[in-house]
Amino acid sequence: MTAEKLSQIGELPLLEQIRKDFSKKSKNVLVGIGDDAAVVEPINKYLLATTDMMVEGIHFDLRFVTSYQLGFKLISVNVSDICAMGGEPYYLLLNIAINRNATKRFLDMFFDGVKDAISVYDTGLIGGDLSSSNKGMSISATVIGYADKYIRRSGAKMGDKIYVTGSLGDSACGLELLKKIKKPVPLRRHLSPSIEKGKGGGVKTLCFEYGLSKKTIEPLLRRHLLPEARNPKDFVHAATSMIDISDGLLIDMSRLCSESKAGARIYEEKIPMSPEMKKAAEKLGISPIKLALSGGEDYELLFTAPAGRKIKAISIGDIAESKKVIVDKKGREKPFSAEGYQHFGRL
Ligand code: ADP
Ligand code: MG
Repeated sequence: MTAEKLSQIGELPLLEQIRKDFSKKSKNVLVGIGDDAAVVEPINKYLLATTDMMVEGIHFDLRFVTSYQLGFKLISVNVSDICAMGGEPYYLLLNIAINRNATKRFLDMFFDGVKDAISVYDTGLIGGDLSSSNKGMSISATVIGYADKYIRRSGAKMGDKIYVTGSLGDSACGLELLKKIKKPVPLRRHLSPSIEKGKGGGVKTLCFEYGLSKKTIEPLLRRHLLPEARNPKDFVHAATSMIDISDGLLIDMSRLCSESKAGARIYEEKIPMSPEMKKAAEKLGISPIKLALSGGEDYELLFTAPAGRKIKAISIGDIAESKKVIVDKKGREKPFSAEGYQHFGRL
């Protein structure tokens, strides 16, 4: 009865199912889902809390994403904020407002995405709320984590090196591809059902029209649809400031600089870009470096650490006194700011 509407089921059976599906107790949970509030045994570390909301029509469009992907992404973006403080996620609370005409299958898939994300990050769902909505869907997650040492955006010092944890621009490139595919691509974290389903499929047509292979576009779509938060544990001991890249390297670098009251020199040739992104961008007629500098939602960590430390990440520049500049391959400096970098002739 998966086509059953939520209105035919009612809130109580839904909550009962959530309680059953997420009953596995984790990490010092004394009382989980099912009581008026969850109870956890505290540990002797800094407690971090963050929340993020996603509204249909504003943050997502159900014509392009599956409910599984929404569930997975909602948890990832919240966990990413805990990672960006140098912490580890422990607990999760989940609020959902959903149209009563949505199907049970749609909600089940959403929870499958949540479940997969929870197992990636080893967190526990300990509560939330469920409501019907008159129109679109709204979802929000709250993640509680702990850290031995927390890293703020404000600690960058003159002479520190600037690092990122992985390639940039993949997610933005995935979004460009998705805009051309114009329908959901049923990628999941583990199962990889054929990303081409049904007739007249967008993926096949796109590959054909732009001379791209599925092998090239799948990792890019994955980065956009199923982003994964980066774990900071390998370098957190040395980091002086940190932020996760949600809005794009230059915007998030500007935020870090303004909180740290410092400038930055970023070297264009050091910016990591995946071969898939370079190839797809070229075929789509978009500048890869533009995607890498200003594309959002990569959820890589951007951080600083004192020079001379051995750091497991990619160095892209240095903290400078006050100016924020990108140095191009010919050594020319171009200023950037949170608002953009319109001065770039070639971008
Ligand atoms: P109350 O009316 O006291 O807020 P609810 O009936 O809303 O209680 O919720 C019952 C239990 O189910 C609570 O433990 C709550 O945290 C949990 N819960 C409700 N909605 C969700 C959800 N979307 N995800 C996880 N737990 C939920
Ligand atoms: Mg409630």
